[in-house]
Amino acid sequence: MEDCVFCKIIKGEIPSNKVYEDEEILAFKDINPAAPIHILVIPKKHIASLVDMKEGDEILISKIYTVINKIAQDIGIDKKGFRVIVNCGEDGGQEVAHLHFHLLAGKKLGEKIV
Ligand code: AMP
Ligand code: ZN
Repeated sequence: MEDCVFCKIIKGEIPSNKVYEDEEILAFKDINPAAPIHILVIPKKHIASLVDMKEGDEILISKIYTVINKIAQDIGIDKKGFRVIVNCGEDGGQEVAHLHFHLLAGKKLGEKIV
């Protein structure tokens, strides 16, 4: 997708601080972290948001959770814990229209999610 900032990151047109990469998935540090550890995990396939998932994408999404698990173990937050958030659409506060999973950790996170 031409005007998508995350597609540009995937193509290397915009720099990013990569944490994990394979053929289908990329993870990089959020440019404006909301917690000491704030990583975005994204499919390389442009899916605009959760509601734009197509048949078969559930395999990719489940792989994203496997990657989140792997990253959590690699950076040592698996024991203390973390939070995964997906914002969807306007009311969900989604600003970048490329499906992404926020991985937040590194401190005791707030109890509320709204
Ligand atoms: P959301 O509000 O769920 O769409 O989250 C978008 C996230 O992308 C925000 O946390 C931004 O800080 C982050 N973000 C936007 N541009 C970049 C970028 N070039 N590199 C890393 N993170 C970014
Ligand atoms: Zn995109």
